[in-house]
Amino acid sequence: MSEPKKTCPDCNVKTGKLHDPGCDIEQCPFCHNQLMSCGCKWIQIGLEPHEIDLNDTEETAWKLSLEDKGLIPFGSETGNRRSFI
Ligand SMILES: [Zn+2]
Ligand SMILES: [Zn+2]
Repeated sequence: MSEPKKTCPDCNVKTGKLHDPGCDIEQCPFCHNQLMSCGCKWIQIGLEPHEIDLNDTEETAWKLSLEDKGLIPFGSETGNRRSFI
């Protein structure tokens, strides 16, 4: 028997809390892949996915669309990331 983890292994938030910005474990609410590596930040603000980081204006627009969609707290991951918990 293994105990379910009670804190995020990357940013240490407790179950049910939102991850710290930039956490590796955080799930994207749009595509349910790893938020750090998915392409939604470009798509959601109307750009083609590319290698360059968002500028401040774009970053703000992305944060707003994330909050609008609703960030996924630790322990509430869905779909293919469940094995990560
Ligand atoms: Zn985390
Ligand atoms: Zn995504």
